[in-house]
Amino acid sequence: MSNVPVAVVTGSNKGIGLAIVRALCKQFPGDVYLTSRDPGRGQAAVAQLQQEGLRPLFHQLDIDDLQSIRALRDFLKEKYGGLDVLVNNAGIAFKVHDTTPFAVQAEVTLKTNFFGTRNVCTELLPLMKPYGRVVNVSSMVSSSALGGCSQELQQKFRSDTITEDELVQLMTKFVEDTKKSVHQKEGWPNTAYGVSKIGVTVLSRIQARLLNEQRKGDHILLNACCPGWVRTDMAGPKATKSPDEGAETPVYLALLPSSADAPHGQFVSNKTVRPW
Ligand code: NAP
Repeated sequence: MSNVPVAVVTGSNKGIGLAIVRALCKQFPGDVYLTSRDPGRGQAAVAQLQQEGLRPLFHQLDIDDLQSIRALRDFLKEKYGGLDVLVNNAGIAFKVHDTTPFAVQAEVTLKTNFFGTRNVCTELLPLMKPYGRVVNVSSMVSSSALGGCSQELQQKFRSDTITEDELVQLMTKFVEDTKKSVHQKEGWPNTAYGVSKIGVTVLSRIQARLLNEQRKGDHILLNACCPGWVRTDMAGPKATKSPDEGAETPVYLALLPSSADAPHGQFVSNKTVRPW
């Protein structure tokens, strides 16, 4: 078993994820895994970084596929005995003018952004080593979508005692409510992506609380963040930040020094803790 530190970035064959891998290859003192659901796209991205003189490693990972997540978990356990840095970056968004029915958009978006990310956390968080760092890439849209929720939902999502099961029930209810076309009457905002990212931010707050309760002495720091508005296939060419600039806040959180005890359980943008 190798005792080299190891970092994993989900959805890193392009966009912000690829830029996070690039920065970690330069700054993280250990092995950095570029992961992709499609091995061809993943290997092409590895080759691109190799051209830049960097040495990322590759592992397949589709966060929609529990078997794929568990294969990575078993690999990390066997080869490294755990994990030092996990960046949950993989995500999807329908384009604004996409005509796919809203209920389908809701189901598909929540499946990857919330349930897929949660499944990665369920399988990989138990592997986190002392002083590990976990970064869940959310979005400022989670804050604006929170503001568009009913007072009752806002209270639940801001609660310091909400459980993971309760959050899962709420995310499932959103999808069901869209199928019955009652989601707005039930207090939800009209954005599937926004609700999925509320899920990611609230999940991060819950997981940080559980780490405090169960692994306090291990000094693991876990945060949600927004990378900013970044020129990628998701956000388009008009966005203000380059992918490398978008990687700055996630990488800052992934490399918080071992002396740091904060931020933890926060929502961070531009390296600054934002109110939730
Ligand atoms: P992107 O260019 O579309 O890249 C998304 C990445 O996620 C791709 O590598 C994609 O792989 C991967 N992915 C999607 N579904 C996956 C799955 N089931 N399993 C594994 N990988 C999967 O988007 P981006 O702009 O870099 O976004 C990265 C993250 O930042 C997302 O979580 C996004 O919501 C968040 N974000 C972006 C912005 C922005 O302005 N760009 C703003 C706020 C937050 P494929 O190539 O196989 O599709």
